[in-house]
Amino acid sequence: IEQTAYHNDKLAMLGKISAAIAHEIRNPLTSIRGFIQLLRPHLIQLGRDEYARIILAEIDRANDIIHEFLNSSKPSAPLKSVIDIPTLLGEVVLLTESEALMKNCEIVLSLPEDSSMTVSIDTKQIKQVLLNIIKNAMEAIEEMDAEHRGMIDISAHSEGELVYITIRDNGNGMDQNLMNRLFDPFFTTKEKGTGLGLSVSYRIIKNHRGHISVDSTKGIGTVFEITLPMVDSKSAVVGASQ
Ligand code: ADP
Ligand code: MG
Repeated sequence: IEQTAYHNDKLAMLGKISAAIAHEIRNPLTSIRGFIQLLRPHLIQLGRDEYARIILAEIDRANDIIHEFLNSSKPSAPLKSVIDIPTLLGEVVLLTESEALMKNCEIVLSLPEDSSMTVSIDTKQIKQVLLNIIKNAMEAIEEMDAEHRGMIDISAHSEGELVYITIRDNGNGMDQNLMNRLFDPFFTTKEKGTGLGLSVSYRIIKNHRGHISVDSTKGIGTVFEITLPMVDSKSAVVGASQ
């Protein structure tokens, strides 16, 4: 599924608007947060600490949304460094494992024994992409019934000049109609979704001269595939030793 100029225009416009207003919204949120914290002891006395917790959680959610908007506003050229895909994937799995466990799902990482998979990437951005996809996978698994044993398989291999990263889940899956829209900014099927995770991910991968594609079957699961160009391992070694 290819993203069109329409998507890029929409994202660019989103960027401008968000940069202009984010600051104005953040300031009042920060002061609301501060005052709620001051009120908290009184609310606890009244047996209403729950209210404070809800307000704080919702303020944090609003801040997260602003944060995602701001991220999507940065067309930023990636800040690149050389890294091995297995190292990167190991770090991402470490970050997500405990949450996965709580959600009754298992994350399995499979990597080929001795294949070079060195890339030059903005590690923070690519991690964000992988976290977005894994988060979606966990949420898709949560949509299944409680006894369903969730599985998220992450694997990688290289072929020619490219590294392929695959993330497969056995969550609720999608029909074709949904698949056609999932990279659209603001497209979400979730009550508390922003619909920004995948559109931002798409842009990050494009900025890295990579590809992202999806295949899914309703009720069976979903596979995301990311392709990134590899760096010549010789030049990577020179780079690393400097
Ligand atoms: P959000 O997660 O906030 O809804 P995303 O851009 O991350 O926004 O995803 C857009 C939509 O794509 C989701 O609302 C969901 O319907 C669908 N989706 C994404 N990943 C998966 C998945 N692994 N399984 C099923 N549906 C998915
Ligand atoms: Mg998401």
